[in-house]
Amino acid sequence: MSNPENKKFHVDTKITQLGRNVDEQCGFVNMPVYRGSTVVFNSVESLKNNDARFIYGTLGTPTIHSLESAWSELSGAAGTVMSPSGLGAIALALMTTLKSGDHLLMPDSVYRPTREFCAVFLNKFGVEVSYYDPLLGEGISGLLRENTSTIFLESPGSQSFEIQDVPAITRIARARGIKTIIDNTWATPLFFRAHDHGCDLSVEAGTKYLSGHSDLLMGLISANAETWPALRQTYDCMAMLPGAEDCFLALRGLRTLHIRLKEAEKRGLEMANWLTRQPEVAKILHPAFPECPGHEIWKRDFTGSTGLFSVVLKPGHHQTSLAAMLDSLEIFGMGYSWGGFESLIIPFDCSTYRTATTWNPGGLTIRLQIGLEDIDDLKRDLRQGLDKLHG
Ligand SMILES: *Cc1c(COP(=O)(O)O)cnc(C)c1O
Repeated sequence: MSNPENKKFHVDTKITQLGRNVDEQCGFVNMPVYRGSTVVFNSVESLKNNDARFIYGTLGTPTIHSLESAWSELSGAAGTVMSPSGLGAIALALMTTLKSGDHLLMPDSVYRPTREFCAVFLNKFGVEVSYYDPLLGEGISGLLRENTSTIFLESPGSQSFEIQDVPAITRIARARGIKTIIDNTWATPLFFRAHDHGCDLSVEAGTKYLSGHSDLLMGLISANAETWPALRQTYDCMAMLPGAEDCFLALRGLRTLHIRLKEAEKRGLEMANWLTRQPEVAKILHPAFPECPGHEIWKRDFTGSTGLFSVVLKPGHHQTSLAAMLDSLEIFGMGYSWGGFESLIIPFDCSTYRTATTWNPGGLTIRLQIGLEDIDDLKRDLRQGLDKLHG
């Protein structure tokens, strides 16, 4: 099992093997946690040439290399680096492709902290940012400027779940020499092959499904061959890397990622189907459902769906009754993040911050993350909660 990368195994098999080399691990199954700053060299010659396998802690350890190589292989990427959080990974990706005076296109459905990064940080460095309708496919060409250097994508959109026409956008970008970065957190490389669809950089908040247990913060950025040197250079300049234990936890999460995603898909679909039949529900925003904007593109480009989706309630319910519903839930916790073993629910309202599109779903909106609890218990919890909407 020394080099699974070169073998034509199915992805489920690869996931159990990637980043491991038991011969180098004293026979132990898992890559141990290497902690360390200093690496000592054998000779002055070796020190001068910097030719040791490991040079210094910020430049990588065996634990870090394991995770980097496993993620690259899984993503079909030339290289991967990690960040201490998903947002950190987004920042690093943007700092790789942008410079002062550039123009950046951001989808209006982007994860909100990404928007803040643009408004606060990029603005300070003289990067122009404009927002676009995530449902624009080839139409994005009308928004390109002389100085557009980067198009950011996130599909599906945070909270609102619009699916973007990634191949159409990356084709246009490539023809103009514009870099594309995608936030691929929802689908992961198992359900959407970002690089195969033309993206130069792909960001994953490992905090979500890779962790799977709500006990880890991590971001991963994978790059195609053309963009990899620039990403690695930016990373090496900053040396913002996750700790050794966190890389170990991410490698542990990786071993069951495929099983947990398939289970998340099954449960997400079952709960979403059940919700469509509840009288208080107007519609489901779930990429596998036809009402979801971009559903046809999802069918074309994705190989699965996960356990996070949104619900639009019928008009006539008010914030106070929604609060009564959410406060009454016994299993669904209210909290940010997702991808863990536990079910979560939050109310949201995109209308307060969108600038390129109008968000008017026609009713109050909630986002659900379906965890691993008994599905009938979950339905009962939501049903008694929906009853509270009626006061
Ligand atoms: C959670 C999330 C992030 C950020 O991840 P953190 O590790 O919490 O910083 C980025 N993008 C998306 C789509 C997310 O859901």
